[in-house]
Amino acid sequence: MAKGRGKGRVPPQRTCAGCRTVRAQRELVRVVRTPTGEVELDDGRGKRPGRGVYVCPDENCLQRALRTKALERALKVSIPDDVVAALRERVAALASAQAAGGSEEANGAGHSPQDGEG
Ligand SMILES: [Zn+2]
Repeated sequence: MAKGRGKGRVPPQRTCAGCRTVRAQRELVRVVRTPTGEVELDDGRGKRPGRGVYVCPDENCLQRALRTKALERALKVSIPDDVVAALRERVAALASAQAAGGSEEANGAGHSPQDGEG
C-alpha cells in the first residue's frame, strides 16, 4: 500500500520475460499479439494494440525467454520464426548500440565463437 502520492510521474515499468527484472518499459523490447492473433514486434513506442510481453535488449535474456517459452506463455500463442528472427535483430542492434555507449572505442568488432549448443 503506497501512502500518499509521490510527486513526479513514475514511468511505466515492465518485467523482462527472460530475467524477470523490472525495468522502464521504454528500455525493453516489446512483442505484441495483435487482436487478430498475429505476433509482431512493436516498433517503438508500445502503442500497438494487443497483449504485450517484454524482454531486455540483451541476447541472454532473449535466449532465455525463448528457451523457457516465456514469450509463448505470456502471449498464449507460439512465436513465428520470422518474429523470433526480427526480435534477435532488434536485440542485437540495441545491445550493440548500448555497448557503443558514448565512446567510440569499439572498432573492428569480430564475432566471438560460441558453442552453447546442447
Ligand atoms: Zn532481461
